[in-house]
Amino acid sequence: MHDIIVIGGGPAGASAAILAAKAGKKTIVLDNDKGVTKRAWFENFYGIEEIGGPDLIAIGKKQAEKFGAGFFNETVVRIESGDEGVTVITEDNQYTAKEVIIASGMLTAVADESGIQKKPGTEPRVKTIIDVDADGKTNLPHVWAAGTVAGESMHGIITAGHGAKVAINVISELNGERYVDHDLLKG
Ligand SMILES: Cc1cc2nc3c(=O)[nH]c(=O)nc-3n(C[C@H](O)[C@H](O)[C@H](O)COP(=O)(O)OP(=O)(O)OC[C@H]3O[C@@H](n4cnc5c(N)ncnc54)[C@H](O)[C@@H]3O)c2cc1C
Repeated sequence: MHDIIVIGGGPAGASAAILAAKAGKKTIVLDNDKGVTKRAWFENFYGIEEIGGPDLIAIGKKQAEKFGAGFFNETVVRIESGDEGVTVITEDNQYTAKEVIIASGMLTAVADESGIQKKPGTEPRVKTIIDVDADGKTNLPHVWAAGTVAGESMHGIITAGHGAKVAINVISELNGERYVDHDLLKG
């Protein structure tokens, strides 16, 4: 059983995976490379002068892997939440976790198949989003959503930040107390 499964390896999902894995949580990311970020060019990302989407995605994956997160090329079909945790069913496999974060960008098929409540999107070109509370929780127990699919403004730094925020909330819930990840200046 994994601690945290993240669905989607874009800025929201990989950012969540970095925090989760760095916190010592057994974390995997399931992604099918159908995100929008690989088409983007960023000049508005704080701390990065300019970067192409494919490079941003590759660096995010490398960061998460450095802390132990595993990445798997999988298409998630649906999620079932029960007493034994959450089961994530893909086209080829199934995985279980204590908590799941959906960071599927503009794609909401997993929500449709899983009985996860949706609502109309408010951001340009985003038709439908997952209905989440302020912490990122969906109506399905132990299932959260982050980034574009959770209705955040569709900008890399915002979706990445929201992935991090939701991950901190998930880690805090698993730990039973608020969690903070601060490193001291090296050297
Ligand atoms: C052309 C273009 C230009 C842009 N330019 C900028 C810019 O200049 N500045 C800026 O800030 N933002 C820009 N953006 C927006 C920015 O790229 C997005 O807001 C942000 O990257 C979205 O991140 P995300 O993680 O929410 O979604 P995504 O990056 O779309 O990631 C979602 C991931 O979930 C995966 N996924 C979905 N469903 C499943 C499933 N069932 N099973 C497995 N995996 C699944 C997808 O494969 C994908 O990898 C641009 C977007 C586009 C399209």
